[in-house]
Amino acid sequence: MTLPLVRILAIGFPEADLEKLRSILTEGESRFDLASPKGGAGELDAETAELLASDSCAVLLLGAPNPATARKRLRPLHSAYPSLPVVVISGDVADEDGDAPVLPTFEVARRALKREGARDVLQASLLSSDDACVLPGILAHLVENRRLVRELEKARELGLHLAHHDTLTGLPNRQLFRTRLRELLARARRHPRPLAVFFIDLDRFKQVNDTLGHNLGDLLLIEVGRRIRGCIRETDLVARRGGDEFTVILDGVADGPSAARVAQKIVDALREPLVLDGHRLRIGGSVGISLSPADGRDVEALVKCADIAMYRAKARGGGFEFFLPEMGQRTSRWLDLEHELRGGIDRGEFVLHYQPLVNIESGRIASLEALVRWNHPERGLVYPDAFIGVAEQSGLISELGHAVLLEACRQNREWKDRGLPIVPVAVNFSAKQFQTGNPVEGVREVLEETGLSSEYLDIELTESAIMRDPAFATDTLRRLRDLGLRIAIDDFGTGHSSLAYLKRFPITKLKIDRAFVSALMRDPKDAAICRAIISMAHNLQLKAVAEGVEETRQLEFLRHPGCDEVQGYLFAKPQDAERTERLLTGTSPLEATPISSAAASS
Ligand code: C2E
Ligand code: MG
Ligand code: MG
Repeated sequence: MTLPLVRILAIGFPEADLEKLRSILTEGESRFDLASPKGGAGELDAETAELLASDSCAVLLLGAPNPATARKRLRPLHSAYPSLPVVVISGDVADEDGDAPVLPTFEVARRALKREGARDVLQASLLSSDDACVLPGILAHLVENRRLVRELEKARELGLHLAHHDTLTGLPNRQLFRTRLRELLARARRHPRPLAVFFIDLDRFKQVNDTLGHNLGDLLLIEVGRRIRGCIRETDLVARRGGDEFTVILDGVADGPSAARVAQKIVDALREPLVLDGHRLRIGGSVGISLSPADGRDVEALVKCADIAMYRAKARGGGFEFFLPEMGQRTSRWLDLEHELRGGIDRGEFVLHYQPLVNIESGRIASLEALVRWNHPERGLVYPDAFIGVAEQSGLISELGHAVLLEACRQNREWKDRGLPIVPVAVNFSAKQFQTGNPVEGVREVLEETGLSSEYLDIELTESAIMRDPAFATDTLRRLRDLGLRIAIDDFGTGHSSLAYLKRFPITKLKIDRAFVSALMRDPKDAAICRAIISMAHNLQLKAVAEGVEETRQLEFLRHPGCDEVQGYLFAKPQDAERTERLLTGTSPLEATPISSAAASS
């Protein structure tokens, strides 16, 4: 294998010296190739400039009649090409004709030239002496040095890049984001300039990762990074904070509306469906915005405010939100609650109450809905509306949901074992709980663990939990039904169900939302909605259940269109297991009987 020749550039030499150089450097097995453009060394001619700029020469040999001239020639070259090693080959000081020597001896001149950047300084007389043979060695050494320096530089650049960038997406990481933001804020202190920080969190990322695998999750994050990048200017910065969190700095955004426009662009871009590895996915993102100086002048404050605003956006179902000072308080309370909730789960402070669903025809209890309560050591009984949201946001819902499911099934099995006439127990699944983790496996395991037969378990899901991803829901619901349990759609009428999907979902019941039932006697529109839902349910071969029935008049109204089951304070409030047991055995009756007096007497 022949090694490539190392090119040495020689300028400023008389023809005779060039000849000598050529024979010294290119003789025998030499690895050098000497380039000597014709132009003088005073001003660089085009050819020399091109050679220098192309970076194709490893070492520059600079000739000069004396050290003073060498110095004049060296200075501009060294400042233009500081990394190019230069070896000066100069005539002696004594050669300076006429003028008083600027530099007294060659040794002093040599040191001065080295200080100016020459890597080595040789006397021109060397070229004619036997010692000329040292020149290739000197050059080889310089070439090798240069190669090492370059490698080190490359390694350092790569190291810096790795330390400051996310290896998956190639985007700046959290650390570089902080450094950049700190720099921009410091500059803004000297020359006031507004900027915006975005905190972006993907919706449903965990689900994609859990159900379709990490490889697809990775591809998704790369694509998300690309999409966000596409929404901002070259001078703005997008960083990946970790997981599915991204942050953006918009430098010099004039006002809220311009930040809002960019945020909307990002939200839209993230909503666009994406096809990865043959899977068509729909995700989305929530964006929180903080503005400097209004919301803060340091990195921590701006990131925290944007994070808080992001949570608000998420709680409202996505999109973007600007930070507002009153959010701060709510969030710290929220964090306290999350902490307490975790403790409450660990200490087993959650209990279940049960509320019957009553068959309107027979007046019998058709099933029992399990409703969770927090038996708080200081605050007493806390109702789910106060903590389900936090449990969902913090991810604690999977633990809590599992505990509820387990307890409901365990209790029902215990009743059965004690010979009570049991009915199915209905457990509420929150949207998050349904979409993350593996609900089917979870249910199967609990049924196995408790030994409860699946015909004694119902599941209630809201429309929005299902409609967020109908394809996923259809599959999951089918698998749940295949286990042998029934699924009810809770709070029906408040979400946006697509009727086309409703037909395809393997569900058995629609529970008409309490809001329609409570307004039934006052608002004819609500009455019409109730009637329509009942008849639609029947057309789809589903049972219709009315929630929140508090008055006999409501019950009478619901009977006409053929509502199948009713649930509400009129019959029983949710109550603990002990009292529920008495309802089951018939030792204490329901408050009211749904059977109309007319029907009862006939
Ligand atoms: P939901 O599933 O629609 O439950 C019915 C809610 O209506 C219950 O409120 C119940 O106490 C209340 N209710 C029943 N009858 C009447 C009535 O005649 N009048 C009035 N005004 N209210 C009535 P609760 O127990 O406060 O639960 C609220 C929501 O919290 C539930 O709505 C459900 O979405 C959720 N939830 C309850 N337990 C769980 C659980 O274990 N897991 C999950 N994910 N969510 C739960
Ligand atoms: Mg429910
Ligand atoms: Mg409901």
